[in-house]
Amino acid sequence: MQKISGAQAQIDAQLDGIRLVASAFAGSWLHHSNPSDRLPKVFSKLAISCDDAISEFERQRVATGDTFTLACKSGCDYCCRQFVVATPMEVFALVAWLKENRTPSEIDQIRQRANSYLELFLDNDPSLLNYPCPVLEGGMCQGYGGRPFICRGYHSFNLEACEKKYEKGDSSTTIPFNRPAYLTAAYMRISVAARIADLKYPSAQVFLGPALAVVLRLDDGLERWLKGENLFSGLEFKGST
Ligand code: SF4
Repeated sequence: MQKISGAQAQIDAQLDGIRLVASAFAGSWLHHSNPSDRLPKVFSKLAISCDDAISEFERQRVATGDTFTLACKSGCDYCCRQFVVATPMEVFALVAWLKENRTPSEIDQIRQRANSYLELFLDNDPSLLNYPCPVLEGGMCQGYGGRPFICRGYHSFNLEACEKKYEKGDSSTTIPFNRPAYLTAAYMRISVAARIADLKYPSAQVFLGPALAVVLRLDDGLERWLKGENLFSGLEFKGST
């Protein structure tokens, strides 16, 4: 059997802790007497845990002498043109954040872009392979404070690799990234999704772009989903990562 290094064992323990936190928070949210009102607070705590863990993994990476530097910069949006997977919790939390922080006319523009996204998605249109997330505007995320977990943890160390892969469609290009930071975000999502599925709520993971169109059309989407209505039929992500 291969021996796990001390550093790797520490990373694994940190990731296990993240899974437990995400699962516990998702469970407490879904068992709460008023999950609709509770959502912004629960998601904010999870987002802070996610951001803190990612910062800590970045600190550890630099402390070990790793010389890669983050290539991600404000205005760079290659990864916002890829399919983003999120739990319904994250989609509802992002919409709640937008309603709290954006004007009705800004939300209306996001809604229109999300509706276009949904149409292309349902048509299986190949242009979606490089299509911007509905929340993206002028290269900037308009929902930055409420963005899903995976948007928080996917950081590239090589801009050229992003250009090659995402702009030029070179699928053989590998983008170097901080793996524990990425896993933090992925495990947060997967742990929340597992709790949603355990408690028999519909569609534990969905594609963000079209799911936003559904939620932005409804005033009572969260309440309906909490009652078991499958709002995201056809928009579910069935993969495991
Ligand atoms: S939510 Fe924001 S960060 Fe995430 S893909 Fe959309 S625009 Fe990008």
